[in-house]
Amino acid sequence: MVRCRGTARRAPTPSHAPVPLIACHECDLLHRVVPLAKGGKARCSRCGAALYQERPGALERSAAFYLAALICFVFANGYPFLSLKIGARMETVYLANSAWALVADGMPLLGLLVLLTSLLFPLSMMVGHLYLLLPRLWHRRPAACGWVFRNLRRIAPWSMVSIFMLGTLISVVKLLDLAEVIPGIGAAFFVAMMLCMAAAEASFDPHLIWPRDAVVDQPTRPHTSALRNGLVACHYCTLLVPIAELDAHGHGHCPRCGGGLHVRKPKSIERTWALLASAALLLLPANLYPVMTVIRLGQGEPSTILGGVVHLAAAGMWGLALIIFIASVMVPGLKLVAFSWLLRTIQRRSAYRPVDRTRLYRIAEAVGAWSMVDIFVVALLAALVQMGQLATIAPNLGAFFFASVVVVTMFAAESFDSRLIWDNLPDP
Ligand SMILES: [Zn+2]
Ligand SMILES: [Zn+2]
Repeated sequence: MVRCRGTARRAPTPSHAPVPLIACHECDLLHRVVPLAKGGKARCSRCGAALYQERPGALERSAAFYLAALICFVFANGYPFLSLKIGARMETVYLANSAWALVADGMPLLGLLVLLTSLLFPLSMMVGHLYLLLPRLWHRRPAACGWVFRNLRRIAPWSMVSIFMLGTLISVVKLLDLAEVIPGIGAAFFVAMMLCMAAAEASFDPHLIWPRDAVVDQPTRPHTSALRNGLVACHYCTLLVPIAELDAHGHGHCPRCGGGLHVRKPKSIERTWALLASAALLLLPANLYPVMTVIRLGQGEPSTILGGVVHLAAAGMWGLALIIFIASVMVPGLKLVAFSWLLRTIQRRSAYRPVDRTRLYRIAEAVGAWSMVDIFVVALLAALVQMGQLATIAPNLGAFFFASVVVVTMFAAESFDSRLIWDNLPDP
């Protein structure tokens, strides 16, 4: 059953005739693929996840915005990003300086993380999508289509242009009482790149690359999961493959995109628990160790995440204090609680509000990356404020542990399989 612009269409009665089908990637329910009106979006009738959409000109628009974003990326890196002026002294930084500042301060891994998430992964997203989309304009498919598509899906959560932009805004506000901050041309191009990428991602649909329906040549029962019909959906290109084609361990490869096929993510519950436990342990040093040291006119001391929030609130910057508190304290904590509760309900075979539990998973997965904002703030401040005794900001060990918490919780979200929420429930 597929909802099309608010109206639901009933799935066909059990039939042996081949019908085009798609499985919901969040609850595994099978749906018959129906044509949509222009601008229509098909959502899962059980959990509400978006299945596919019909946007006229999506291919051209998506390709144009990715191309525009790539051009902006070049200029954003070629021109100064921000300048800091204290008295007669002026410090100018380029985009890549934020990652380099962490490396120079003895934190190469943290520098690499900032370099990947703020520059290299966004660049890969632009180049990779153009590699996929441009040949499609001439109805061709590039040679390494499957490999590129799968890796773009993998790195998408790690491309953090918007979060880096929020980190930049917070850094600028934080520095206002210390010095004059002058945005560079690079910053203007970075904003343009962020907007172009957002527009390109909104237009992009995996079905611009792969056909959205899989004609399954076997009897299927409507209102049941792909699993109960003996089918497994490719996590990347949504192709439905008979479970009989997997090996004895339940593993195989998608014949269309080459992605790994599993009935459910391997050892999802155990791996997610292990990652959550690691993140919970890392939260301690992340909050106990200082994240950065601010030296101003020869005076200053290291401050922890909570210490920084209290300092901002005391200085009257309530809005900023609240953003940092939500992103750095509440989000990681609530994410741990949310995923622990979801895992417990799955292990207890609970039938409690599966739609809300799936929604909770969706929200926890989406907001987790925003905790990286504090790391970007530390990186930018460390790059900008290098004026000796006048003013210097240096990253501390707490930033490394906090970044580890964010990375590990993001891996936990990735290893969690939301379809397990629905596996214990009877068919709708
Ligand atoms: Zn669903
Ligand atoms: Zn596939």
